[in-house]
Amino acid sequence: MINDMKKILVSEEEIKDTVARLGKELTADYKGKDPLVICVLKGAIFFMTDVVRAMDCNVELDFMDVSSYGNGFESTGEVKIERDLDTNVKGRHVLIVEDIVDTGRTLRHLVELLKHRGAESVKVCTLLDKPSGRVVDMEADYVGVVVPNEFLVGYGLDFKQFYRNMPCVGVIKEEFYE
Ligand code: 5GP
Ligand code: MG
Ligand code: MG
Repeated sequence: MINDMKKILVSEEEIKDTVARLGKELTADYKGKDPLVICVLKGAIFFMTDVVRAMDCNVELDFMDVSSYGNGFESTGEVKIERDLDTNVKGRHVLIVEDIVDTGRTLRHLVELLKHRGAESVKVCTLLDKPSGRVVDMEADYVGVVVPNEFLVGYGLDFKQFYRNMPCVGVIKEEFYE
């Protein structure tokens, strides 16, 4: 698996440091607010489980699965809810945890949906930010690492559903793309 990588962009250690830094910021901002933390499946699973354990406050967890990417690299532009929340967000402080913001379409759609459902506040925490990919006006409130416009895998991010369990984030060699 690690042998399929052309280069590593975010090492295990950098992920650890990033999670600790974000955990501190989130603790300061959410203490006493009992936020509802929403993990956007499947890419954000590892990041969410790590970042909430770096938060020293009461959190409730829920999950949402949205599709916008299909199985390749290209965004389809439309966002479909594949699995919705169990929790009523009305009056809640909601923190969406994402793996990466690229075009920004997924998050824009989610933020608007949750505000429409009556959330008291909606903020976004993303491990990775690819600002060069942005097509809609959407900035995360908490950003881990800014990355270049390349297709990344690892620590939750997949290529055709594989590589999610790599402990770091990187780019795979061209020969594995087909
Ligand atoms: P959006 O384009 O809506 O901002 O991002 C939608 C989703 O596309 C992200 O949450 C992520 O799951 C996926 N995505 C965006 N960039 C990458 C990437 O470089 N690698 C992988 N594996 N997924 C990506
Ligand atoms: Mg995602
Ligand atoms: Mg994917």
